[in-house]
Amino acid sequence: MKVGVPKEVAANERRVALVPDAAGRLVKAGFAVVVERGAGSGAACPDDAYKAVGATVADRATVLGQVDVVLQVQPPAAGDIALYREGGALVALFQPGADPGLVQQMAQRKLTSFSLVLLPRITRAQSMDALSSQATVAGYKAVLLAAVATGRFFPMLVTAAGTLPAARVLVLGAGVAGLQAIATARRLGAIVSAFDVRPAVKEQVQSLGAAFLEMAIEEHAETAGGYAKELSEETHRKELAFLAGAAKEADIVITTAAIPGKKAPILISAAAVEGMKPGSVIVDIAAETGGNCELTEAGSEIVRHGVVILGPLNLPSTLPLHASQMYAKNLSAFLTHVAKDGQLRLDFEDPIIKDTCVTHAGEVRKP
Ligand code: NAD
Repeated sequence: MKVGVPKEVAANERRVALVPDAAGRLVKAGFAVVVERGAGSGAACPDDAYKAVGATVADRATVLGQVDVVLQVQPPAAGDIALYREGGALVALFQPGADPGLVQQMAQRKLTSFSLVLLPRITRAQSMDALSSQATVAGYKAVLLAAVATGRFFPMLVTAAGTLPAARVLVLGAGVAGLQAIATARRLGAIVSAFDVRPAVKEQVQSLGAAFLEMAIEEHAETAGGYAKELSEETHRKELAFLAGAAKEADIVITTAAIPGKKAPILISAAAVEGMKPGSVIVDIAAETGGNCELTEAGSEIVRHGVVILGPLNLPSTLPLHASQMYAKNLSAFLTHVAKDGQLRLDFEDPIIKDTCVTHAGEVRKP
């Protein structure tokens, strides 16, 4: 089976779908791997490194049009659809609802497309879980951005020039990104507290050395699948007041809260920002889906009421080497699951295939 790896063309995308090490493993497993010239350059993976592991390097039209499966980070660019082989397959990381027109075009081209955003969070799919691997990168990088933007040290320092207190970091949302943010802030020496509507995370937060902020929530805020649910209006109002109090004490707030397929919930209102200490920093990694802070401007760094508010987009791309390495591992695990004996094995009874397949045989399966 022939696998193609194009150069990512989206603005500010530095990741590549396969790093040379992963390409080499696929070659050993019997796949032919064709990489577009310069595909890995943003992630410090030169063409020669791919050649050294048995992959070939070719132009874009070959990589998209003459392979069985295209492995990529971002969904296809609309202008590229005609370059894909009719009836071919692709795996990428995208929310189908974000661009229904593109999904329609992929169906018209009879592409079998999979999105790892839709992968079920089940134990046997853990090695393919790109949402988790990329959220790990985002949580880590958010803390580094905060450390650069704040005027303070993270650790407590006792020096001849005086004693400086440790920074107080508040992490909102303790899923994969939030837990990584907690761990990173702790390693830098901050005093960390965290909040999430899912009570199940309390122990995980505490095991990382952070305090878990308790708010009585009367409704059940967790789905059977382990994700958060949208809160009722009344509980949300209580949450906003509770978090406004917590934010007053913080030097840094990292927000990571999300509800799958929905706009991010607002956790820090404009009034809460006004109540924060001047010089405080908010890093809102939910900026891409609307933001957890009412004042966040996606893709910008702004200052409101003396508080620096960062709304970074595509954080995983800013750590391209390790983000690509992890994503390549996820993709390889997915590919070896769906490809058997040189053919795609589309068992739609298998939740891994059923849930991730967006278009197949001219039809849109996941609008
Ligand atoms: P996510 O990115 O959808 O959300 C991030 C966090 O925001 C979640 O912890 C959520 O509870 C929280 N949140 C949502 N609304 C909130 C609000 N109003 N206030 C405060 N916090 C709010 O979640 P995720 O990080 O992708 O993963 C969440 C769940 O998936 C976890 O239970 C995790 O353990 C589970 N998971 C399972 C597997 C597996 O079993 N293979 C793999 C990865 C993750």
